[in-house]
Amino acid sequence: MSLDNLRDLYQQVILERYKKPRHRGKADPVDRYQRGHNPSCGDTIELTLHLSSPEGDATDPLLQQIEEVKFDGEGCAISMASADLMAEALRGKTVAEALDMVQRFQSMMRGEAEFPKDLRKLNVMQGVAQFPVRIKCANLSWHTLKAALESAQTAEPVGW
Ligand code: ZN
Repeated sequence: MSLDNLRDLYQQVILERYKKPRHRGKADPVDRYQRGHNPSCGDTIELTLHLSSPEGDATDPLLQQIEEVKFDGEGCAISMASADLMAEALRGKTVAEALDMVQRFQSMMRGEAEFPKDLRKLNVMQGVAQFPVRIKCANLSWHTLKAALESAQTAEPVGW
């Protein structure tokens, strides 16, 4: 496949995710809630996570497993597609694995890394690295996820 065709394919995936997101909504129950905003583009995201503790080890927060991630918000195609792809990729991962993925995604946006085969869907965002002004759009959901995972367990925010 030529580079141009590959780029078209990536754009198609991003637009399709933007138009028909698969993970919009609110996790049930909500174990983590985090809001993120990217002022340079006006993207806003509200992320909700449902976590579970492994049998017999409820004490190590890094071993908690992500059961469900949902997002809501308004923004450009890149920010919303990135959130949808992220929500999908996180299902079943531990908090420790998810934090590694945040780092890898941010490296990918600097053109320094990509995801291995089992997470290769996330590599469609790679093309964004060529457009510095859009990198914050792609990073928003991951940045928000990191904050959500590093925050203490939160009660549901007022108004939800
Ligand atoms: Zn944006």
